[in-house]
Amino acid sequence: MDNCIFCKIVEKQIPATILYEDDELMAFNDINPAAPVHFLIIPKKHLSSLADAKAEDAVLLGKMLELAPKLAAQQGCAYIEHADGSKSGGFKTVVNTGPNGGQIVYHLHMHVIGGAKL
Ligand code: ADP
Repeated sequence: MDNCIFCKIVEKQIPATILYEDDELMAFNDINPAAPVHFLIIPKKHLSSLADAKAEDAVLLGKMLELAPKLAAQQGCAYIEHADGSKSGGFKTVVNTGPNGGQIVYHLHMHVIGGAKL
């Protein structure tokens, strides 16, 4: 998609710190982190927002969600349930949709934010 900054990252036309890439997904660090760990998971396919996703995109959306805890753990914010029942770590996942949702970049992305108590 022309003039889409995240499509340009997918095409390697602009730089990003890429944490993960496969045929369908990419994850890279947010340029303006809100916490010590803040990265974005995007589909390589241009979907302008979550509202643009169709039933045929359900597996893709599931893969984005499934990737989040794996990469969060690699980045040092795994969610852990301890043997004594206590819990530690973890992260926030956010998908902003539309102006009222605070969406600025119109290429679907999931924020993964952690490394601090949010
Ligand atoms: P918001 O700024 O309200 O979180 P979005 O949900 O649309 O809006 O998030 C867009 C995110 O993309 C922002 O966190 C912003 O810092 C990030 N961003 C914008 N340009 C780049 C870029 N070139 N590389 C990495 N992250 C970027």
